[in-house]
Amino acid sequence: MTSDFEAQLRAVGLHVTRPRLAVLAALRDHPHVDTETVITLVRTEQPGVSHQTVYDVLRALTTAGLVRRIHPAGSSARYESRVGDNHHHAVCRACGAIADVDCAVGATPCLTASDDHGFVVDEAEVVYWGTCPGCATDRSSR
Ligand SMILES: [Zn+2]
Ligand SMILES: [Zn+2]
Repeated sequence: MTSDFEAQLRAVGLHVTRPRLAVLAALRDHPHVDTETVITLVRTEQPGVSHQTVYDVLRALTTAGLVRRIHPAGSSARYESRVGDNHHHAVCRACGAIADVDCAVGATPCLTASDDHGFVVDEAEVVYWGTCPGCATDRSSR
């Protein structure tokens, strides 16, 4: 819903612009995509949008907290618009596919730092590395 995106932008004090709306829509429909993919998606709607504009929009939205940037080791930075729920990610070592994993429930001893060094911890970033179903099937059928 475009109007939802407008409300989100206004809520964080950002002007409503067509590229910002297009980036939010692209990330809603395609979570965990890299910058190049965001540019491609935005251009299907707005062919004239420059790389720089999309970079600037991603930076502004990330800074404002509307978009989360994730950067698994060995992969390019990805963006998603599901923010604020401290969810985690499962990443496939073979193809780089990323899936959302809801925050662990129940006893989560690893999320309580054994020594927080005096930090006030408000987030634990967890990446579950493994093999996605597609790649696991590939491998066993080879
Ligand atoms: Zn895979
Ligand atoms: Zn996610």
